[in-house]
Amino acid sequence: MKEKNVKRMELGRLDRLYLIEVVKGLGITGGHFFKNLFVHTAHLFGLMKDRPASVTIQYPEQRRTIPVGYRGRHRLLLREDGSPKCVACMMCPTICPAQCIHIRAGESPNPAIEKYPVSFDIVVDRCVMCGFCVEACPVDAIRMDTGIVEMAQYDRKDFVDTRDFMMSQKPSEEEKKKGPPERIPPNELNGKKG
Ligand code: SF4
Ligand code: SF4
Repeated sequence: MKEKNVKRMELGRLDRLYLIEVVKGLGITGGHFFKNLFVHTAHLFGLMKDRPASVTIQYPEQRRTIPVGYRGRHRLLLREDGSPKCVACMMCPTICPAQCIHIRAGESPNPAIEKYPVSFDIVVDRCVMCGFCVEACPVDAIRMDTGIVEMAQYDRKDFVDTRDFMMSQKPSEEEKKKGPPERIPPNELNGKKG
């Protein structure tokens, strides 16, 4: 990328007083204040209903729609028999930059599967919501499509999402409509095909 030299602006005596900038700032703030006051008053008289009375939303009574693909709370996917799809391969705890995934692997009773997670905890107050765990999983056993973005708790210990909790989570309605994500075979990653 080509570097671009930007000339530092020389400040005159008047500029150094910053009075003009302060007045400009007050003008912008005042402009927004009176505009909002005008729209609110119009709403009180039943006018301008097509315009929202405020740019802020009245949380928690009002909530924003979570966009499709937004990374929310994790869930673990299940097999048809209700057991976790996870094969305890340890790819997700290995890639997790926050080191907040803790898995204890056990021998699966199913001879076709080598291992399963006896316990699978995610410490959500350490998670940085990067989605690397979802990307790294070779069997599509973990997703972040629950649409749950509010994770406040009163107690630190309640920030640990357990295997059973994550297995009980469902995809959000928007994600259900979208269907399963497209998965690119490893040999097609980085444009290498075949
Ligand atoms: S989203 Fe990122 S930080 Fe959170 S558990 Fe997954 S890999 Fe770790
Ligand atoms: S990467 Fe997938 S299969 Fe491997 S331990 Fe994590 S969730 Fe389980």
